[in-house]
Amino acid sequence: MTTESAHDVVIVGAGISGLTTALALHRGGCRVRVYESVRTLRALGVGINLLPHSVRELIDLGLQAALEDKAILTGSLRYHAKDGRTIWSEPRGLDAGYPCPQYSIHRGELQMILLEAVRDRLGAGSVVTGHRFVAADQDEAGVTARFADPDTGAVLDTVRADCLVGADGIMSTVRAGFYPDEGNPVYAGQVLWRGVTVSEPFADGRTMVMIGNDERKAVIYPIGRVDESRQLINWIAELAIPRELPANKGDWNRVGNKADFLDHFQDWRFDWLDVPDLFERAEVCWEFPMVDRDPVARWSFGRITLLGDAAHAMRPNGSNGASQGVLDAVALERALAANGNVTKAFTDYEAERLEPTRALTLTNRATGPEIVLRLVEERCPDGFDDIHDHFSEAELREIADSYKRIAGFSRDQVARR
Ligand SMILES: Cc1cc2nc3c(=O)[nH]c(=O)nc-3n(C[C@H](O)[C@H](O)[C@H](O)COP(=O)(O)OP(=O)(O)OC[C@H]3O[C@@H](n4cnc5c(N)ncnc54)[C@H](O)[C@@H]3O)c2cc1C
Repeated sequence: MTTESAHDVVIVGAGISGLTTALALHRGGCRVRVYESVRTLRALGVGINLLPHSVRELIDLGLQAALEDKAILTGSLRYHAKDGRTIWSEPRGLDAGYPCPQYSIHRGELQMILLEAVRDRLGAGSVVTGHRFVAADQDEAGVTARFADPDTGAVLDTVRADCLVGADGIMSTVRAGFYPDEGNPVYAGQVLWRGVTVSEPFADGRTMVMIGNDERKAVIYPIGRVDESRQLINWIAELAIPRELPANKGDWNRVGNKADFLDHFQDWRFDWLDVPDLFERAEVCWEFPMVDRDPVARWSFGRITLLGDAAHAMRPNGSNGASQGVLDAVALERALAANGNVTKAFTDYEAERLEPTRALTLTNRATGPEIVLRLVEERCPDGFDDIHDHFSEAELREIADSYKRIAGFSRDQVARR
């Protein structure tokens, strides 16, 4: 990639998007520093999916070996009705003929892989922790960012750069600077409990399953190997709980209580997977409300722009959150490499990425590809003998394929890139 000029960039947030952006902009010739609020970055979270369009970018960034050392190469995705019967099954990643895999991986492992690559390539001091972004001022020559100690609130030294990228997640302070009245994330009326269980594999050990309907759902997939016979199995138990936004409005680290959801899943003991047993055997679970943000009309304001969840936090249906942050990173790299003028680069980046992520956020609100579970509940609430009595093969395929097109990861789109 040719570089118009070497921009000096500050990134706020060392999550998946911020660290990927650091790697991409460094490759594109920028000088990059990342400022992160937490004092010590640790492998937090549970499972996350990286779809082929983002995997392609991560492979181009030289991360394939590190990722495949930890990840599961997802081979198929299956949807099941609440009685365990299969509605739809499709190959994924390499098994579906894509030029690159789909990975299921522990979010924390992914973050540590990215962090190590950033420190190796950009230098040990490139990620500055214990710096909570507070605000930024900009003038004709650059941006001055202000930080505070996350524990004491003490004011820290200001940081000067050509431009600033806000990759500080769903509760973004950078975004709040431009949308001060936005308030809390938008609650979808469902609560998710997430956990990881060390267990023998189910199915072929590379399968992701979604079971149930809007009222009661489970999402289960392996994210890593433990030893010859056991895997780390990621699970999400989801219940419709229509009420005000819970007190936990977007804290990924809030420990949950299994008693709050286990009873609802006791009848899901299928001959191919004992779901409540899997939930029970996890040492700990985390509770998170299903939330997103309303799409906004602008991310770029002069020398400051938004990226990843700070720009477009979306519901997890469709497994796209992390992947879209990766796509943002390389789009920003291209825009900065092509433009000496930062403001123009940020506008170009926004023009490329805002509309697709807006469409995806809205599609995910309509449950994304999981809409098939809702349709099954509507058309055959008492179950089915043969799913094709209620859906044609073509209709089921179109539900799956149309989401891939909107999210930008149909096989053709990935191959063409
Ligand atoms: C601790 C944690 C656990 C998660 N677990 C899961 C999971 O299990 N499954 C899943 O699907 N998604 C999870 N996510 C969300 C997922 O990582 C994102 O949806 C997606 O990867 C996009 O990432 P992002 O980098 O845009 O945002 P995030 O991953 O949220 O990263 C934002 C980063 O910015 C930092 N930050 C926030 N405010 C400031 C500030 N004022 N100044 C400086 N730094 C700041 C945060 O500490 C964080 O490191 C988790 C996020 C976090 C932070």
